[in-house]
Amino acid sequence: MSFYQWQKAAAALFFPQRHCLNCGALAVDRPLCVACEQGRSSLRHCPLCASFIAATETERYLCPDCRHHHPSFTAAAAALPYEGRLREILIAFKYQQRTGFRRPLAALLLEVLAERYAGIAFNAIVPVPLHPARLRQRGYNQAELLSQLIAKETGLPHHPEWLQRSEDTPPLAELGRGERLKTLRSVFTAVPEVAGQQLLLIDDIFTTGATAESCSRALLQQGASGVYVLAVAAGYALP
Ligand SMILES: [Zn+2]
Ligand SMILES: [Zn+2]
Repeated sequence: MSFYQWQKAAAALFFPQRHCLNCGALAVDRPLCVACEQGRSSLRHCPLCASFIAATETERYLCPDCRHHHPSFTAAAAALPYEGRLREILIAFKYQQRTGFRRPLAALLLEVLAERYAGIAFNAIVPVPLHPARLRQRGYNQAELLSQLIAKETGLPHHPEWLQRSEDTPPLAELGRGERLKTLRSVFTAVPEVAGQQLLLIDDIFTTGATAESCSRALLQQGASGVYVLAVAAGYALP
């Protein structure tokens, strides 16, 4: 490896914001390169949740999950599909202490916030919580690192304490959506302060929407007036 290559690799490691989160091309002071930013505008998603859908589907196509069960959150949005380099970054950000990615990831969320939720008067920002035992083990909640920065940039109140995870759950990746919902049913509890509040709920990944759905139910049960979900990445809806 030449000095130049080494320097470039080191820059990518220590200054991940110099490279596109999605493809790794140079993207100085921006979360995405120009090509990925353009590609993002042609992505299609389910009108009720954040799942991406094939470009061949009609405008009113609902993903299979939403066809079976109308979600309780007001809306959900994600920046990009959970795949490729972005997927690797989100895994490193969540499990491998690579918290330096929080700035470019939050910058990406701010773009989606401006595009999709412009004009909505939010009262507060709430991250999807981790169980306290998991938090001690990991040392940080990846969703909260993002929500903190979004609160700072938007000036909105940040209330991580408004939603709690009362039970730890086994990893959900292996479970189908129905099983996830069953597992997560009573996992989240919201405080009475959420009553009448329009909330922005932040997560890193919107997989099947089961976590967002459970959080949203807990918040609405306590009287929240609306829950808007915002995640960095989402899966593709399978036909
Ligand atoms: Zn790119
Ligand atoms: Zn959907």
